[in-house]
Amino acid sequence: MTHPQYPDLPWVEGDLVIDPAVLEAIEAHAREAYPSECCGFVFGPIEEASRLDAMQRETNEADKYHRLDPETFPRTSRTYFKINELRAARTFEEAAAAGRPLKVIYHSHCDAGPYFSDEDAATFAQEGMLMWPCAFLVVSVVEGEVRGRALWVHVPGTDRFREARLEVREEPVAER
Ligand SMILES: [Zn+2]
Repeated sequence: MTHPQYPDLPWVEGDLVIDPAVLEAIEAHAREAYPSECCGFVFGPIEEASRLDAMQRETNEADKYHRLDPETFPRTSRTYFKINELRAARTFEEAAAAGRPLKVIYHSHCDAGPYFSDEDAATFAQEGMLMWPCAFLVVSVVEGEVRGRALWVHVPGTDRFREARLEVREEPVAER
């Protein structure tokens, strides 16, 4: 099955395999950021659609926006994350051009489970359309320790997300 908006980008539908070292780096970021939510990007080779083999930390700009405009942005980084959209757009473009597409946006939840919140869904889908061509990883950090994680993908034509399979496995480098 493919996503109607992105039929050529199969990772949008989940069923991904992440390198254990990459997952550990994401979880380390989540622990460091606690009690704030962290966020970042996960990449992989274009030739292996399901494979995730690199990550990049991004800055959670929730507090910056909250300071500037607390009425429009009432929530702080404790319960909310805001990724820089210009940087995200540019990174999606550059990564695709380099054959190393940005396949997943990750963020953490503090003292809450790795569910996809209403706020998350509203951020990443609007009027049935997926806003970014990727899947979404949520890491749960409770009292500073990682307690779980889940991969979420968009349900086409809705503003909902469903959980998808994420396997943690090292893969041998493909022979050329
Ligand atoms: Zn969230």
